[in-house]
Amino acid sequence: TLDFHPTGRHFLQIPGPSPVPDRILRAMSLPTIDHRGPEFGALGLKVLAGIRQIFQTRHPVVIYPASGTGAWEAALANTLSPGDSVLMFETGHFASLWNRMATRLGLKPEFLGLPGAEGWRHGVQAGMIEERLKADTQHAIKAVCVVHNETSTGVTSDIAAVRRAIDAAKHPALLLVDTISGLASADYRHDEWGVDVTVSGSQKGLMLPPGISFNAVSPKALEASRTARLPKAFWAWDEIIEMNQTGYWPYTPNTNLLYGLNEACDMLLSQGLDTVFARHRRWGEGVRAAVRAWGLEIQCADPALYSPVLTGVMMPEGVDADAVRKIVYERFDCSLGTGLGKVRGRMFRIGHLGDCNDLTLMAALAGCEMGFRLAGVKLAGSGVQAAMDYFAGHPASLDLRR
Ligand code: PLP
Repeated sequence: TLDFHPTGRHFLQIPGPSPVPDRILRAMSLPTIDHRGPEFGALGLKVLAGIRQIFQTRHPVVIYPASGTGAWEAALANTLSPGDSVLMFETGHFASLWNRMATRLGLKPEFLGLPGAEGWRHGVQAGMIEERLKADTQHAIKAVCVVHNETSTGVTSDIAAVRRAIDAAKHPALLLVDTISGLASADYRHDEWGVDVTVSGSQKGLMLPPGISFNAVSPKALEASRTARLPKAFWAWDEIIEMNQTGYWPYTPNTNLLYGLNEACDMLLSQGLDTVFARHRRWGEGVRAAVRAWGLEIQCADPALYSPVLTGVMMPEGVDADAVRKIVYERFDCSLGTGLGKVRGRMFRIGHLGDCNDLTLMAALAGCEMGFRLAGVKLAGSGVQAAMDYFAGHPASLDLRR
């Protein structure tokens, strides 16, 4: 609970759900229409075309009225059969949850990873995947499943390198990728990177509330779905893709979230995806400048893989990250992301995805700095000053040239 009656806006700086812009909130407040009528069909066709551009694919993107977890299940249920082996890579909490889901669905996941705490500070090791696939001479492994932007750590993974590893091993496994938190903040290319199923969700870079999620589907994945034998009914791609041809769904779709998605696609595509990706990289730089100035460690240990979506901030030994978060929430009305799974209490997360600007991030950083001081955390210097210097010294337009 807050120790005052909050005024102004709450600062929602968790790595999703992200703040929903007024323009999208207004679009979603329109009356719900007949989902079998002509007006809806036109909306359906427009959002299906728009979302394909965001995934950078020419192939179908299936939209589910479900959270990201549902789209995870859809990716597995459509492409695999009971007892199939799948290769997964432990990059953090979300990779672990997808792995657990695979077991619960009756698959046999093999979980590769770096030893100890290191795995949660690095990305997918494509070399380890290549080596494992080369050893699988019988082609028992049917899919490789990896997380593109590990939301629990703030580490991205090189998906094109994973594709190259599968190809170098001359292995027919499908490539399934979770970019639930990466899409529309971090560069992501479904077709170019040779991904078979990409899973994403609405409540992150797309700036929508939670409630819809996605499967982008390659022709090879679609082919696999015709013979895959895991039970699938609600998640089955075939009927949905068929009805999507005319802009409709086989069930009642999430009409008002689709109004929002339509608005989000208009906003993102009119700005241009490169502009969008550049601004998140820049915000990530500014936030990391603050973390370094505080003298704290960034959870991601590989600078080439810093997430443009969020930054994980590690606490010094003996400091409870959740105690700091609690102070920042109660005193300054700002939500920061908790440490999940193995790193609970050891770190917290600052989101720089979706609808931010320099000053919302400065507010979050000021909240952190005040929270650290109130919690008695010894800081090396002012992160707020370092971030102000970075943002003032690096106009957003310059970042586009990278
Ligand atoms: N995968 C990743 C990378 C996520 O960040 C999340 C949610 O934060 C999920 C999966 C699960 O999605 P949802 O909570 O929408 O079911």
